[in-house]
Amino acid sequence: MRFVAIAALTFALSGAASAQVSDATRAANAAAAQTLPWTDREDEDFANRGFVAAYDQPQIRMTDGRVVWDFTAYNFLQGDAPASVNPSLWRHARLLTRAGLFRVTDRVYQIRGFDVSNMTIVIGDTGLIIIDPLSSAETAAAGLALARRTIGDKPVVAVIYTHSHLDHFGGVRGIVSAEQAANVQIIAPEGFMEHAVTENVIAGNAMSRRAQFQFGAGLPPGPEGQMTSGIGIAVSAGTFTLIPPTRTISRTGETLTIDGVRIEFQLTPDTEAPAEMNFFFPDLGVLCIAENATASMHNILTPRGALVRDAKAWADYLTEALRLYGGRTQIMVGSHAWPRFGGDRVRDFVASHRDAYKYLHDQTVRLMNAGYTDREIAEQVRLPESLSSRWFNHGYYGTMMHNSRAVYQRYMGWYDANPANLNPLPPAEEGTRFVRAMGGADRVMAEGQRAFDEGDYRWAARVLNHLVFAEPNNTAARQLLARTHRQMAYQAESAIWRNIYLVGARELEQGPPTRSQPTQSADLVAATPTSYILDLLAVRLNPERLGNRRYAFNLVFPERNERFAVTIANGVLVHEHDQTVDGPTITSQRAVFLQAMATQSMARSVLSGQIRIAGNRRSLEGLGEVFDTPDPNFPIVTP
Ligand SMILES: [Zn+2]
Repeated sequence: MRFVAIAALTFALSGAASAQVSDATRAANAAAAQTLPWTDREDEDFANRGFVAAYDQPQIRMTDGRVVWDFTAYNFLQGDAPASVNPSLWRHARLLTRAGLFRVTDRVYQIRGFDVSNMTIVIGDTGLIIIDPLSSAETAAAGLALARRTIGDKPVVAVIYTHSHLDHFGGVRGIVSAEQAANVQIIAPEGFMEHAVTENVIAGNAMSRRAQFQFGAGLPPGPEGQMTSGIGIAVSAGTFTLIPPTRTISRTGETLTIDGVRIEFQLTPDTEAPAEMNFFFPDLGVLCIAENATASMHNILTPRGALVRDAKAWADYLTEALRLYGGRTQIMVGSHAWPRFGGDRVRDFVASHRDAYKYLHDQTVRLMNAGYTDREIAEQVRLPESLSSRWFNHGYYGTMMHNSRAVYQRYMGWYDANPANLNPLPPAEEGTRFVRAMGGADRVMAEGQRAFDEGDYRWAARVLNHLVFAEPNNTAARQLLARTHRQMAYQAESAIWRNIYLVGARELEQGPPTRSQPTQSADLVAATPTSYILDLLAVRLNPERLGNRRYAFNLVFPERNERFAVTIANGVLVHEHDQTVDGPTITSQRAVFLQAMATQSMARSVLSGQIRIAGNRRSLEGLGEVFDTPDPNFPIVTP
């Protein structure tokens, strides 16, 4: 994904009021601590086992000095949890932030704590096989440099991308230089390239903005701030790169021998990612479970927004992994968090984790078929004690609450079948009427304050949100709602719920961020098919600015040997590959055309000759102005 503007470690939060922890939050966190399986210390053992060395610098920096990664950011994680952090999340963050090179077994090492994800290194006969080269080139390069002090200077001979998410390929140019690339096999599951470059194109602006909430953009780590992103620490703030695969795995059971190392593959499409695979090293007894199982319940629907995932398929593929590899596995490594050691421990983990997803799916559907709706189901689906007592089934990333609603959404969509909910008023209009029905803003504030004082934060948030949407300039309402969100953040076991509440609180107090987003990865843009870019243009068409005008033209990108017929009318842009329409022909390098559209500088590019137009040029007048440039920092907690 385009994890833009998530450089959580590098921005400073200015002027946020340090918030008090309420008695209700203290009590809730103390009660939560009583329910946790503290005597189970297996994860501590696994997270520390095989530690070789830490990085020798406190930060990883870009060549211009900017900080990409700060190893000292979580040094505050000492001792017991403060009242402002859920004790379960505190423990999880302590384990996730152990950073360095770890020896997993003979020939297998891991770089952990250098990014949101892990980089696994398998030593072949003559070189190195790298699994998932982190998010950015700088962290991947630093990780490999650290590893080389122990494992030597063997060249990288192969890279395996477990799946199509950026935190598993974005650092590839940090470990494979342009000169080396021709000699390095790049292996990925079927569908990898399409999904790697397109998953976030059409809805990219909205997803990026929402990702700021999920990953806590701009929240400094700390007892009152960001406490990791649950799945890993945070996405590093370096250079996102991509080298396309040279070899695609297209079926389960496929095998490869790379540099003397045998590998068996299991495709797991439409699980955690649309293109993903597990694989097994039979000579090493090592199973790589990709991101299909980790130290937390994952997201069936990520709160930043995405197509909803298939919890049933997810569970079924874990069952298949157990069947294919369980009996031969001694050690399991994954794309995030620590390995698991011992065949029995791995089988127990995969089976229990699988059961958590299966229970989530099956019980949500059972209740759905019994007539319960999504919010009712979210309130009552809880894992049984035998599953909930396992640390790795806790919701540090995905939660049972939002995942059960995701299962409901996958089958039923947003409508709960109650006619009263078929056509509700939009938030600001409903808020205005809610305030009137309550007897005015003062009465709403009083109810919000009462709920806050009683620790009834979920209700306080609903009440005060109506008032903020009715009266966005009501500072007292915004402040009380911000305080409410903070208490919910402090109680949250999920790191991303915590981030969402804390960013919401900050934006209620300070408004949306004003800084512009970093530019996109050149590799990713270059690899994006033109048809997706024209789809993106289509969803930026503003019908009001277009009015009754019509356009028809041909687009030719000679360096890509591509041509498209484009028509714009009735508020829609339609493009067709390899077709010709009666109208002028625009010829340009694709990058130049994209730049001109993005910056509304079409006329200038035509004048400078970078874009050539053959035919009736006047029929294109005004074309550059019919597209919107979306605001990357649109408001969320206010209308
Ligand atoms: Zn990941």
